[in-house]
Amino acid sequence: MKINKFILFILFFSNFCFLNLANAQIPRKLKRDLRYGRYTEDTSYVYEMPFEKGKRVWLIQGYYGWFSHKHEKALDFNLKRSENVCAARSGRVVDLENNSKATGFIRSNINKGNYVIIEHSDGTCAAYWHLKYNSVKVQVGQKVTAGTIIGQCGKSGYAIKPHLHFWIFRRGDYGIYEEVATRFKTDNGIKYLRGGRWYGH
Ligand SMILES: [Zn+2]
Repeated sequence: MKINKFILFILFFSNFCFLNLANAQIPRKLKRDLRYGRYTEDTSYVYEMPFEKGKRVWLIQGYYGWFSHKHEKALDFNLKRSENVCAARSGRVVDLENNSKATGFIRSNINKGNYVIIEHSDGTCAAYWHLKYNSVKVQVGQKVTAGTIIGQCGKSGYAIKPHLHFWIFRRGDYGIYEEVATRFKTDNGIKYLRGGRWYGH
């Protein structure tokens, strides 16, 4: 699958310029339930946490988070700089960027982060963003299993501090990208994650 980088960047950018029309139609209650981890839909795929086993990590903000996720289903994991980022689900690497030195919370950096995108067997893709310069450990076309170390946390691109910006998307009709909310396997059960909480596995 060839990922259209331009569309991806628009998706990433839309959070800031309010162009995300699909999200605009999402009911407020659904957004609130996702934001506070009260969402109970139980058919979504259960992902592993995108970091090494045995660790506990604070979730800076969750789906529709108050700071920069107001219009997106994305998760910010408070990994430290150089901490390993792991695949949260098995799949195949379909795109990556490893050579960006741009960093800082300025708009011109929005499309400059280092990232890895992994496509899963059901056609969904996971995006792992803000990776450290030259830390990506996988290649396009490579198959990975859940838990495989794919790179290291950094703050490349549009980021204030090192963290992992993680989200799932699928391609819908007419080439529209749709974000997908998912459950995770934590040491406290299977659940949708909530910003401001610690999670381990
Ligand atoms: Zn984020």
